[in-house]
This record gives sequence, structure tokens and C-alpha cells, in this order.
Amino acid sequence: MQLWPLFLAARPSLAAPYSSAPEPPRTELSHPCSRQVSRWVKVQIEKELLSSANRSGVQLWPDACPFDTSQDIYAAQERSKKRGPWICGVCGKTFVNDHYLDLHLERRHADMLPSGGVCLADYCESFGACEDDPASSQRRSKRRQKPDCNTRGLHEIDKARDKCDSAMERCFPLDNEETRRLFAQNSKRWCLLALDCKVRQERWEQFQGEALPLDVLLIFIGLACSFVFCIMVCFVDYFDDIVEYTNGTTRTTRTSACNLRESPTRSKAIKQI
Ligand SMILES: [Zn+2]
Repeated sequence: MQLWPLFLAARPSLAAPYSSAPEPPRTELSHPCSRQVSRWVKVQIEKELLSSANRSGVQLWPDACPFDTSQDIYAAQERSKKRGPWICGVCGKTFVNDHYLDLHLERRHADMLPSGGVCLADYCESFGACEDDPASSQRRSKRRQKPDCNTRGLHEIDKARDKCDSAMERCFPLDNEETRRLFAQNSKRWCLLALDCKVRQERWEQFQGEALPLDVLLIFIGLACSFVFCIMVCFVDYFDDIVEYTNGTTRTTRTSACNLRESPTRSKAIKQI
């Protein structure tokens, strides 16, 4: 087990967070349940599902409900974290960023993970949260492959749908009118439509279509910059010719003006003759 990344990350002893030297490749988390994706799924569940359920009067969740975020396998560790600076609430060590604190929690405080905890990352497909970075999720989506609706892709989606359906049944018991209504509403939205391969393909195509104007705009800006650059190059190359031409034009104009000024005198002389 490599412990040096934790050793270096802990401050103030040997950490060097402000060094200008390139950072070595960081050690990634190794737990099979992605902590980052779980965090993102939790945000989506609280925003999209739990808040609407709370507004409908559902305040307490059945014990087996996996969407009850207190069942999250990382719930206790996340609660123990202190932010700005990042401090382990268990032992008090300080870290340069969230990643190294997560690494520390994984290595040193694994006993805080409950044996029967829920891996919220398992539901990322339903909530469109399988990216580990919410900020770059949309940006990456532009490069994402078209959803695979062949046999293998459908098999993966079927598994996600079964898991989603099972969770909805446990969270919204059918023996109560209000929870039965919430079950129908949420299972349709998150387990049926969100995991329908054709719908996902249509959304992907729509997203690509929305991304097109930006691409066109960038091409247009590129062409405009090239045009300006060509004009500047031509101007520099033919600067002498342009100056000479301008001076010549000015001289000709002055000569013409002189001729015009002389013309009345000439007319008078002609008359005297
Ligand atoms: Zn600690």
C-alpha cells in the first residue's frame, strides 16, 4: 500500500501545495463505489426527488429506501469533513484539497463505512449523473458517444431500470394513496423515460443540434481572424507601394489644383491677346 501521497498531502508538515513544480500524478480512490459520482447523485436525488416528495407531505422514508440519503455509504464520512481548509473531522488532519481528504478517509477511516450502506452511484444512470464532475458534465456530454441501443447497451439499461424500479417500490409504498401517486410519477420519470434508450438517443441528437451553433460561431470567428490576418500581411508587404501611391496621388491632386488656380489668369491673357 502506498502511503506517501497521504503523507505529502497532510499539512503543514511536508506538504508543498504552493510549489511551482509540476504535480506528480495523483493517487486515485480505489473503492468500487465512486465517491464523486455518489455525491453528484445525492445532489440530484435531493433536488429532483426528495424535495418534491417532501412538498407532498412525505417526510420519513421507509428503512429500506435507498434514496434516503442517510443510507448513503459515505454519509458519515461526508458529515465529518470540514471545508475551507479541508480538515478530517475524525483525526483533525488538514489537507490541500477535497481529493486528498477523501483519500485519507478511504485509507484511514474505512471503519466508518456501514456494511449495509447504499452506493448512490449505482443510480447514476437514472439521474444523468454518471460524470464525476458536475461542472464539466455538460461539456463532456458534447463529446459523449451516442447511446448504445444494441443488445449489450440495452442489457445495461435494463439492469439500471430494474434497480430503479426496485428502489421506487421501497421508497414509495403502494399501500398509501399519496405514496402510490408519487411512485407512479417518479418511476415513470426516472425509471422509464430517463432510461428509455430511444429517448436517450433523441436527447443526445437534440443536444448535438444545440451544440452546432457554437461550432458554427467558432468557425466564423476563425475565418474572420484569418481574413484580418491576411489583410495585415498584405498591408505590411505592400506598405512601400501604398505610401508611394498615396504620395503620387497627393502630388497629382496638388498639380491639378494649381492648374485650376492658374486657369483664370490664362483666360485673361488669352482675352488680352
Ligand atoms: Zn482522519
